[in-house]
Amino acid sequence: MSSAPLETPTHPASPLPVLDWTHRLTQLGPRFWTSLQPTPVAAPRWAARNTDLLAALGWPDALFDDEHLQAFAGNALMVGSHPLATVYSGHQFGQWAGQLGDGRAIWLGEAASAQGPQEIQLKGAGRTPYSRGGDGRAVLRSSIREYLCSEAMHGLGIATTRALCLVASPEPVRRETLETAAIVARVAPSFLRFGHFEHFSSQGDTDKLRALADHTIAHHLPECLERAERWQGNVYAALLDEVQERTAQLLAQWQAVGFCHGVMNTDNMSLLGLTIDYGPFQFMDAFDPGHICNHSDHQGRYAYGRQPNVAYWNLYCLAQALAPLIDDHDMTLQVLEGYKTLFPRFMGDAMRAKLGLTGDLAPESEREADWTLVEDLMQLMAAEKVDFTLFWRQLSQAVVQQSKATTLTDAGWSAVTDLVLDRPRLLAWLARYTTRAGQPNLSAMGQHMLQTNPKFVLRNHLAEMAIRQAQAGDFSEIETLHNLLKSPFDEHPGFEAYADLPPDWAGQLEISCSS
Ligand code: AMP
Ligand code: MG
Repeated sequence: MSSAPLETPTHPASPLPVLDWTHRLTQLGPRFWTSLQPTPVAAPRWAARNTDLLAALGWPDALFDDEHLQAFAGNALMVGSHPLATVYSGHQFGQWAGQLGDGRAIWLGEAASAQGPQEIQLKGAGRTPYSRGGDGRAVLRSSIREYLCSEAMHGLGIATTRALCLVASPEPVRRETLETAAIVARVAPSFLRFGHFEHFSSQGDTDKLRALADHTIAHHLPECLERAERWQGNVYAALLDEVQERTAQLLAQWQAVGFCHGVMNTDNMSLLGLTIDYGPFQFMDAFDPGHICNHSDHQGRYAYGRQPNVAYWNLYCLAQALAPLIDDHDMTLQVLEGYKTLFPRFMGDAMRAKLGLTGDLAPESEREADWTLVEDLMQLMAAEKVDFTLFWRQLSQAVVQQSKATTLTDAGWSAVTDLVLDRPRLLAWLARYTTRAGQPNLSAMGQHMLQTNPKFVLRNHLAEMAIRQAQAGDFSEIETLHNLLKSPFDEHPGFEAYADLPPDWAGQLEISCSS
């Protein structure tokens, strides 16, 4: 890692103002951030422009013109932006890591949008005081993965930071091999992490901690004010409770689509319950609760099946950080306890929805019986190491097929029984399932399932194809994938290959933390 001093580039004339900036974060004061300028890169090129997001935010097309290419590359500053890097700390792989901070993500400010104020960050835009010897860059490979997965998650209806555009540069970046640089412009109402709170708490700076919590509640989570009524008026307990609930919901959604984050360190946990910091993530292919997607995670701390517990562990860290504000040990523990009921409930609902069994108001006994059905199926899936996405999609299709038949037949389930070796076991399960569902309901259930179980997810090998082509100078596959992933429940005729099982070579892909 280089230890060269930070460059202080002078930026050329900025593009005309097109965004309406506010910078509420800066009001927290310079203990929270350091002003700085992005480091320019050579010969930037657009690799992807997310016109859907641009339109949804009501931002002008001019943002994607050539002048703004320079701004998104970090070579020019947008008028009204206020680039800075924020400081945070965190627990990495279960250990206190001390100060971290935005080591390569440069915050440009907060811009008004049709969806309320949105912060914009340039990830990979050069070194910051928090780079700790890192080069402040991101490679094209990992940037394509972040761009596509942010949008894939959004398409799946899962809360996430968004990706506005992707700029590639031939500038060399050293990782295990020599690669090239890229910059993702990512967008979120707030990029605050658990680690921001851990930082000021660990320093014993309760005033700054309170300022941060008050800022968060006032600008991002005003619902905490109402929620405080459940906690004897304690807004900080309500803040923890709000984050706890959002995190429980997020984890249920991750588990339900087979998403493994890979690096669930507390600095990678969003206070708004967004999926953030896409690194060695993976949508599981073969179902295995012990699946580890991060090649550097030797202990399997962040294995698929452990994610919900890790989230709880991380919430515990956040609770410890907020403890001086909540100032009530029993209440803090009581808030945390909530996760133990909420997560199973959200997870149960998410899995029941995958089976077409909806109804949030279902009685507890029905939920429990349904959960047994889910567990038995998951055990079968694990024993068979069946492809997670394909299985659920084929099950949805089989339910549609069966709903058209006057009598149910074993052959009618072939779309899904063809995926397993132990057909009698699956057929026995399917018999229980249809008894529970009731044959007349299958038609509506099947339609619902097709809108719940995606046909397309960003499998590693699909991302890899887009990466290899982009590394050869052709960015078109990024757009093809984006088009599929933004509506992953649609059939997209002609693109069946993208919903296929991974090819043999996909098993050899090693995705590490290096990005
Ligand atoms: P991550 O594992 O990507 O969440 O990163 C953990 C910490 O390392 C954060 O503080 C990042 O900003 C920082 N970091 C990761 N990669 C780099 C890099 N190439 N240059 C500078 N800082 C980095
Ligand atoms: Mg991170």
